[in-house]
Amino acid sequence: MISAMSPRDPALHPILEKVGRGERLSREDGITMFRSTDVVALGQMANAVKQERSGDAVYYVFNQKIEPTNVCVLTCEFCDFAAVPGAAHAYEMSLQSILDRITPEVHEVHITGGLHPTWPWEYYLEMIRSIRQRFPDVDIKAFTAVEIDFFHKKFKLSVQDVLAQLQEAGLSTMPGGGAEVFSERVREKLFHQKIGAGPWLAIHKAAHRLGIPTNATLLYGHIETIEERIDHLLRLREAQDETGGFLTFIPLAFQPGNTGIKPTHEYTSAIDDLKTIAISRLMLDNFPHIKAYWVMLTEEVATIALNFGADDMDGTVGGEKIAHDAGAQSPTALTKERLVKMIREAGKVPVERDAFFNPLSVDAEFVVGKIPYLNSVPFYAFFDSPEEKILPVVPRRMGILARKKEIISGPFSLMDYVSIENDFELMEFCIATRDQVKSVLLFSKGGWRDLEGKRIAITDDTATSIRLLHVLLEHKYGVHAEFVRLHPGVNDLRGFDAVLLIGDEALHCNKYGLPGFELVFDLAREWYEWQKLPFVFAVWAVLRSLPEVRKASLHDALKESLRRSETSMAWLGAQHGKRIGLTAEEAREFLEGFNYHLGDREREAITVFKKLNAQVKQILWTLNS
Ligand code: SF4
Repeated sequence: MISAMSPRDPALHPILEKVGRGERLSREDGITMFRSTDVVALGQMANAVKQERSGDAVYYVFNQKIEPTNVCVLTCEFCDFAAVPGAAHAYEMSLQSILDRITPEVHEVHITGGLHPTWPWEYYLEMIRSIRQRFPDVDIKAFTAVEIDFFHKKFKLSVQDVLAQLQEAGLSTMPGGGAEVFSERVREKLFHQKIGAGPWLAIHKAAHRLGIPTNATLLYGHIETIEERIDHLLRLREAQDETGGFLTFIPLAFQPGNTGIKPTHEYTSAIDDLKTIAISRLMLDNFPHIKAYWVMLTEEVATIALNFGADDMDGTVGGEKIAHDAGAQSPTALTKERLVKMIREAGKVPVERDAFFNPLSVDAEFVVGKIPYLNSVPFYAFFDSPEEKILPVVPRRMGILARKKEIISGPFSLMDYVSIENDFELMEFCIATRDQVKSVLLFSKGGWRDLEGKRIAITDDTATSIRLLHVLLEHKYGVHAEFVRLHPGVNDLRGFDAVLLIGDEALHCNKYGLPGFELVFDLAREWYEWQKLPFVFAVWAVLRSLPEVRKASLHDALKESLRRSETSMAWLGAQHGKRIGLTAEEAREFLEGFNYHLGDREREAITVFKKLNAQVKQILWTLNS
């Protein structure tokens, strides 16, 4: 816990206090942290922030790296991968050889490469299209901003058109490479032919506006200064405030190899790597994830980094060339078993994910799900039961994991509980409204009855809220609409007449507005005014087959956390409100709007809702691609 820490370096004390209060750190704070030698304190602070965001989870993906060519029109100083056309080591992959690299277990394909002087635009589109057709379930993460800029200039297409055509062909996300360091001084010296910060950020923001989430990187450990590292982080943080489209930040340790750069150190030191990971976690308060990229860090340092704020290990990678040509000392691929072992050795829970960070499977015993929203904080704020590991996961995904029995307990969405009740028994806790909740909101261009035949966007997170909306539309207002489930990450809301948001995102938009959607309807209030009953969004349940003694200890830990939380709502509000832009008072008021105990009225509400839900027609679904 942050309040129990006491850094050896007094310069870190004010920073610790800010982190404890959930306050944003300044440029000066960042520089102070880099100058400090108290690496342990930095790691502890970053780990505490990581635990708050990701619990015990560390993510990895079963992925395949493909570099279709090393032929490149540029000659960046630090690059040992590129080849001029006709060079003995130059190579070009055919579509067939690209497809042959993808095996059925691969979940994500990661494509980056040289800027080829003669390949036509259609070849790139065909590359993405063929992968999408042959492997429909694979997420395709492809082309850095440098490559997108190259396509834009070479093929005389706008950046928007390049991205939209790739998206249409099947692109899922974009990697974060090519940013290097946002310093004109460094760019002039090392990669003056490459795009600078302005175009790099503009391309990523354009991708976010199209609904393509992206990553961001920082290449450190060459000639950049500490101030330049911090300025890089600040510009990313500012961009993320604007679009919210970055998934993860990846500090990339420079690999000197035979590159033209003569750094002070051959390779970055483990201390520098760990500090950079920790400081990134602390500065980038709006980035969901920080990656320990084992390819650049080595397996040993990446494993330690999991206790210095990183919550992602990238993946199996399979056949990486760019970093290895530059002298990376790690293997070119890791097995899934090896990754899982490394994560376990760090004391964390290995969670296999897709490109959007949706958990696919969990590789640990006694994992308890946590809805990562403010309204579930009272169950975890004082939860003290070291046997159980906590996994934050949005309601719909928690249901999927429960059906596979990969979690033993959690606050399940009511709709999910209905489908798992043979294996899970109810506990005495729930997340229910008193009257309104302000975190299950329909943002709309018109009134309820104007929604007849219209398209309503639904975030990927929802399970029960979508059914509540459906029940309200059909039974209360007699309206039928088309629901479009958005993929995780950012989304372009143009073309929709309403959007259903839940959790912290809904709370944030309720306070600051969602442009284009002027009317806001609180679904819980709608329900209350109609049925005069609370609405139960989630019920706690535990795996029936768990030993009774374990069920009892889990029950006691939850009860104790709730008891202490219910007398500390003001404190919880102050601790957690800032992160989503609420004042302590607003957060306290919000938390007090919930009832966390499953009583007779809540059970009656569940019965009424289940009956109404059974009567509504099948939801008309579309998946936004
Ligand atoms: S870093 Fe990328 S753009 Fe620069 S030379 Fe290497 S492959 Fe080409």
